[in-house]
Formats: sequence, structure tokens, C-alpha cells
Amino acid sequence: MAVLKNGTELLTNIIASQINSHKRFGGVVPEVASRHHVEQITACIDEALVQAGISAEDLNAVAVTQGPGLVGALLIGIMAAKTFAWAHHLPLIPVNHMAGHMMAAALVDKIEYPAMALLVSGGHSELVYVEKEGSYKKVGETRDDAAGEAYDKVGRVMGLTYPSGKAIDELAHKGKDTYHFPRAMMSTHEIEFSFSGLKSAFINTVHNAEQKGEDLVKDDLDNLAASFQTAVLDVLIGKTKLALEKYPVKTLIVGGGVSANQGLRERLANEITEAKVIVPPLRLCGDNAGMIAAAAYIEMKKENYAGLDLNAKPSLVFDTL
Ligand code: ATP
Ligand code: FE
Repeated sequence: MAVLKNGTELLTNIIASQINSHKRFGGVVPEVASRHHVEQITACIDEALVQAGISAEDLNAVAVTQGPGLVGALLIGIMAAKTFAWAHHLPLIPVNHMAGHMMAAALVDKIEYPAMALLVSGGHSELVYVEKEGSYKKVGETRDDAAGEAYDKVGRVMGLTYPSGKAIDELAHKGKDTYHFPRAMMSTHEIEFSFSGLKSAFINTVHNAEQKGEDLVKDDLDNLAASFQTAVLDVLIGKTKLALEKYPVKTLIVGGGVSANQGLRERLANEITEAKVIVPPLRLCGDNAGMIAAAAYIEMKKENYAGLDLNAKPSLVFDTL
């Protein structure tokens, strides 16, 4: 729950994390996620107003994520936002979750348009061309797994707890790319990602060694992590460069949970010369309400409001919002 003033000033940005409840299952359990949302949401609304030092009467609008995401969690957010908007006579602004990840950048720097966004998270890996503020055109995406999903699946084989992106990132900094895992789609001139082949290659390498009595997870974890991460980053950087070549822009925005990756941040700084790069600080990379408010501010200026019949769209795509 966040309160945003004048589009860029975050008065508060509360995150009620439920990672601890999902850890033992190795991923997010939808029903558990919904129940935690119900438990937390009203307390978060109250706390956000207290922390921001304002009352509901001071607000101009209420924004909420319409999709994409898990339908149960989305519905609870939407129901709470609709009720709040109705009770306080405020307009309601539906927001695309991925536009939120993108607009986290607006909270830290001025985005000059046209811009390209590399969005890498638990459920998405995509490149989005933003010709002007609020106009989103997806120009490439993953054919299979998202980058964050690949980190989490490989992390499971490495015996790491969910979500494992941060741990793999740290291990990778201690190792070297000794396994040379495949870099999918690099020979094509298409803006497309694929991470499931890399995940399989990783799992096969570990299992084949096991057959020969070797335990790579125990004995060579740093190099495994570095080899995996280098393969992911080679593809992310390579395809981003391709997108920047096809669509020249002034700003490259990076967003989503995987944008917290230190290896990615280092390589962006060293290798992207085609545009100014904005990568949000770590606290704004993962899911947070501040980024949703930032994306909503653009829609507020256009009075893109929804009625109280607003419904969740678990598979919402950029073309519609
Ligand atoms: P989506 O935004 O696509 O709906 P999501 O909201 O579940 O998915 P985020 O919260 O944006 O995803 O990001 C979570 C993902 O980020 C997890 O897969 C996690 O492993 C990954 N991640 C977090 N930190 C790092 C890191 N340092 N390196 C790599 N991956 C990371
Ligand atoms: Fe997300």
C-alpha cells in the first residue's frame, strides 16, 4: 500500500511480504496468497494513511492492479480499492502490473521518451517499446519460462530456498562460467527469449554428474551459479541490444524482480551505451504499490477511470491497458 504525491514523491510504500508462508512449498500457493491478502489489506490501508500523515479526504484517486497475476489476490485488491473509492467518493484507476514494474523508474529519474523497457520478473521476460508516456507496445517476450522462474527452478535443484534469484546472484559472483550452458535464440534476429532449454541443460549437467558419482551441487556450486547466470545475462543483454538497434530510444528502463540482480546491473552499466539506463533501487524492483501508483498517475492525467464493475484480468496484456 503506497501513497504517492504529485506522481513522484512516495509518502509511504508498505510491503506486507508473505514469502515465509510460501517458502516451504517452493513457490507461491494461490489459495494461501489470497488468504494473506484478506488478512493484511485493511491493516495496510490504515497504516499507509498513518505513515503518510494524511486522511482519506486528502486523496485524489485510488489505483489498483487489474492484472496480470493470480486471480484470487487481484480480486481482493480490486474489491478493497472499489470499496475505498466508493466510500470516499474517489475515482478508481486500474493498472497493469507490468506497467507498474516499468514505472518504478519514474520514481527515481526522469524518463525521456521514446523509451524501451526490459521487464524481467517471476512471470515475465519482455521488451516493451514506450513511444510516449503511457503507450506500451510489447516488441518481444519469452517463448517459455520467465527469467525469474528459471532462477527459482534452478535454485530448487541447487537446494536453495524460494525465491532463489538473490542467492544465485551472490554465489555467481564467487564462481566462473566453466559449464558454457546454451544461450537460446542468440543466432536469430528475433527479439525473443527462451529459458527452459537452459534450465534443462543445467538439470541434465547435475544429473549426469550424479550418475558418475560426482556431486556438483556440493562441490562446484559457485561455478554452476556463475555459468547459469552468465548464460541468462548474455541473452538478456544481447536481446536488449538487438531491441535498441531495431527501436532507437533515449531511455532504457529496467524493471521487475530480476532487475535486483547485481550481475545484470553491472553489465547494463558497462555494456549499454545506446541509451540512458534507469534501474530502480532494490526496494522498488520487486512487487510494491509505489510502482502501481506511479503507473496510475499517467492514467489519472488522462482521467482513465474505471467504474465499480471493474473486474480482475489475470492475463491482462499491454495492448489493452
Ligand atoms: P510478475 O511480475 O511477472 O507477475 P512476480 O510479481 O511474482 O511476477 P517479482 O516479484 O517482480 O515477480 O520478482 C520475483 C522474481 O525475482 C523471483 O523469481 C526472484 O527469484 C527474482 N529475483 C529477485 N532477486 C533477484 C536477483 N538478485 N537475481 C535474480 N533474480 C532475482
Ligand atoms: Fe511483479
